[in-house]
Amino acid sequence: MNAARRIDTYLRELVDEDRFAFYETVAGFAKERVAPRILALERAHELVPADLIQEMGELGLFGLPIAAEYEGQGGGQLELVLMGIALSYWSQSVAITPGAATSLGSKPLMLFGNEAQKRAHLPDLARGRRMFVFGLSEPGRGSDAANPEVVAVREGSGWRLRGEKCWSTNARWASHVVVHALTDSAGRRGHRSSCFIVPMNAPGVSYAEMGGKSVWRMSSTGSIAFADVRVEADALLGQEHEGFKVMATTLNGGRLFVASLAVGSLAFALDRVRSYAEEREQFDGKPIGRFQRVQDVVVDLDIALEESLTWLIHLVKLYDQERLPREQAAKVKIAISARASRLMLDAMEICGGVACLDEFGLMRHHEDLFVTRVGEGSNRALRTQVAQDLLPGIRTLLQ
Ligand SMILES: Cc1cc2nc3c(=O)[nH]c(=O)nc-3n(C[C@H](O)[C@H](O)[C@H](O)COP(=O)(O)OP(=O)(O)OC[C@H]3O[C@@H](n4cnc5c(N)ncnc54)[C@H](O)[C@@H]3O)c2cc1C
Repeated sequence: MNAARRIDTYLRELVDEDRFAFYETVAGFAKERVAPRILALERAHELVPADLIQEMGELGLFGLPIAAEYEGQGGGQLELVLMGIALSYWSQSVAITPGAATSLGSKPLMLFGNEAQKRAHLPDLARGRRMFVFGLSEPGRGSDAANPEVVAVREGSGWRLRGEKCWSTNARWASHVVVHALTDSAGRRGHRSSCFIVPMNAPGVSYAEMGGKSVWRMSSTGSIAFADVRVEADALLGQEHEGFKVMATTLNGGRLFVASLAVGSLAFALDRVRSYAEEREQFDGKPIGRFQRVQDVVVDLDIALEESLTWLIHLVKLYDQERLPREQAAKVKIAISARASRLMLDAMEICGGVACLDEFGLMRHHEDLFVTRVGEGSNRALRTQVAQDLLPGIRTLLQ
């Protein structure tokens, strides 16, 4: 691999000195502490080890977007995205661990929690002593998330929860799950559900790791079941029957984070093929990089990386200024994830058989990029959201 990372050249021009220094710190940590261990951990089917999670906590990665008054780093989405790029260059599994803990875990609480809830949880979340899971998807409800099958039935001053969530990232390490549940079946679409903060050790809550996953191999992905789980009034997050707003608002930032994972994979692929095109010799002992059809792919990757990175950083800055329309977050996730996963196959092809080996690194990114197309809203379902913005007349007909 080339010692110099191409992405650094572009990123240096897009963010200020402090942000670039932060990115370099995380990238250095990833290169020294994460990269040498990935292969052995994945071959042993192990999740991100506790000592790496602890080290990421010590770096402050779990508190990045949390305000200083709650003992966080006081950063914004830009810091999260820089972390996502720096870690996913080596491993999306490692990147999504603090990524989901912050952009999906702490975020709903930061955006919709009351003061008592923030004081109770944010300091521990910031230090990595607690982790929240984003409990939206269910076995029977993925894209149709506004209509949960998990129910919360009123019981005195509180509720009783029944049903099952799945695909819950970080479930293995979670202290709490934010559960999206039906509370008013007669309500209007998008106004039928509420969110509840539920401790993972509450009576009736059970968790199982979802087996057989060949993407994000080191990331924990769990099913969480709720068997008549009692929650009190103080568990309600946001307004009653407005739970979908909590989830949908959180996903806008989450989609920017997912796009950062695809950028990290793209950056790795570019550096990998540049090295290989210069090293690998075929026909008269000359490097394959002299073939124009190989050069085409290297150039396509470079153009895609610079365009994707520039667009993403621009949108993230707007998000941090609260000026980003929600369909823009959907668009950038759709576009970058689809382009990166198409180009990853081209990158693998120009490397030949070696790309099939796990130690070469590209196959892992190929598998992981699939999640960026499906996670936090499947690209095809999200196109509906973008189309409705482009065709407001059609949106009115659908409502
Ligand atoms: C590794 C991983 C981690 C995840 N982590 C989390 C998490 O932490 N928390 C959480 O809540 N969820 C999580 N998810 C779930 C993820 O958000 C869902 O997989 C995603 O929303 C799609 O839902 P689904 O898989 O049920 O697909 P479905 O909704 O069943 O859709 C299947 C396909 O049908 C098509 N389709 C569906 N609806 C439409 C439409 N309206 N227009 C056009 N086409 C459509 C699309 O092609 C879509 O891919 C995770 C998923 C994965 C794979």
